[in-house]
Order: sequence, then C-alpha cells, then structure tokens
Amino acid sequence: CGIVGYVGGAGASERPLEVVLEGLRRLEYRGYDSAGVALVVPGGRLATAKKAGKLANLVAELDTHPLPPATAAIGHTRWATHGGPTDANAHPHVSGDVAVIHNGIVENFATLKAELVADGVEFASETDTEVVAHLVAREHARSQDLTAALTTVSRRLEGTFTLLAVHADAPDTVVGARHDSPLVVGLGDGENFLGSDVAAFIGSTRDALELGQDQVVTITPTSVTVTDLDGNPVEATPFRVDWDT
Ligand code: GLU
Repeated sequence: CGIVGYVGGAGASERPLEVVLEGLRRLEYRGYDSAGVALVVPGGRLATAKKAGKLANLVAELDTHPLPPATAAIGHTRWATHGGPTDANAHPHVSGDVAVIHNGIVENFATLKAELVADGVEFASETDTEVVAHLVAREHARSQDLTAALTTVSRRLEGTFTLLAVHADAPDTVVGARHDSPLVVGLGDGENFLGSDVAAFIGSTRDALELGQDQVVTITPTSVTVTDLDGNPVEATPFRVDWDT
C-alpha cells in the first residue's frame, strides 16, 4: 500500500531506517494492516523486521530488537489482498540475499508459484508477492545484476505492481519497477529516495522524477538510472513538489 526506499548517508548509519520509518508515517493516511522494513547492512547481509498491525507495533519491535546501521533501506505498509494480515505475510519478503516489497496484485502468482514449488522452493507466506522475491533471487543468481533481475521478472508479471528490491551484496543500490501503480523518485544530495507517493520523502527533498508505465529505476547515493522493461534507457523529466505539507 505504501512504499519507501532510500540509499545514501555517509557510510552505514541510522539514517536509512529513520528515513523509511518517517516515509511510512507520512503514508499512513492511505490505510494499512501491517508494516515492515529491510536494511542492507555492511558485510553483505540483510536485516529485516515486520509486524502485523500499526506502525507502532513495528517501532516497538525495533526498540526491543534494534537493527544495525545500514547503507540502504526499503519499507512497506501492507493492505492485504492475498493472505491475511499476519507477521509472516507482511512485507518485505526475503529469498536468499534478496528482499522485495510490493504494492498491487500479481494476478498470475499461482502459475509462478507452482513453477517455483516444482523447483523445490519453500514458501514462508501466503502472499502473491513472495513469488517475486524468489524469482528475483533466481534471476540474480544467473546475472549477478539486481536491475537486470527485477527487469526480467517484471516482464513475467501480470497484474499491477510497484516493486522495490534490495540485495545483500549491493549496499548502495535500491531498484524499483512499476506497472499500473505509481512510483516516484526523490532526488537528494548524496542520497536518493523512492516512494509510492511524494509524501514518502517530502521531509527530505522536493526534487522528484515520476516513473512512467513499465519502467525500472536504479538508485545509488549519486545516480538515478531509468530504463524500460527491455532495458533501454529512458529520459525522465524532473519536477519540483511545490505544495505545503
Ligand atoms: N498483494 C500484496 C499482498 O497482499 C500487496 C498488497 C499491498 O498493495 O499492500 O501482500
């Protein structure tokens, strides 16, 4: 339902988590039933936390089980469509070194799930989204490239999606893709943002780029690269958010 992504800060810090939690708070007005975050932590690992219920439940969980400093983060507030509002069904969904969050519905998830189960993949949730995490991890194992992996997988999905993905071995990268669901890039100085809505990052920057239909974006602290679903470069037009918050 609500999506936030962040990369930047001077080395590993608390900022990625803080930015993502602030963004999720600003997106709360949309309604949701669960919330979660995934951080990319130096040393090649992911740290995640997710909780059914209000954002306050996630924050309480983070207070009792603090996550380490990070270089990148993604965060999600879920409005369940497939699988009840439980901790396990909350996003992010993790497969190996990949974490994914998703707004929308993967209409062909049953076919994709059957294919993955036949390959021996074990599922940890009842969501449509989890197939995306496994597919991206599988593609990444082939290409060693998170952007290429999310692009390839996005071409196979039917339905609606805003997707963000991070990989444990890509400490400075968040990748996003969209189809019939919004995704906006926030442009910072030594940091960049992704949101399902500009409200996600309006506390940090008013310079933004709107992703077009069927586009993929890769953000690092100092770059924003947009392509179509065939990997061809796309020119995105910047705009300035001028409304008051
Ligand atoms: N279909 C996904 C789920 O049920 C995503 C729902 C959403 O947009 O929050 O987990």
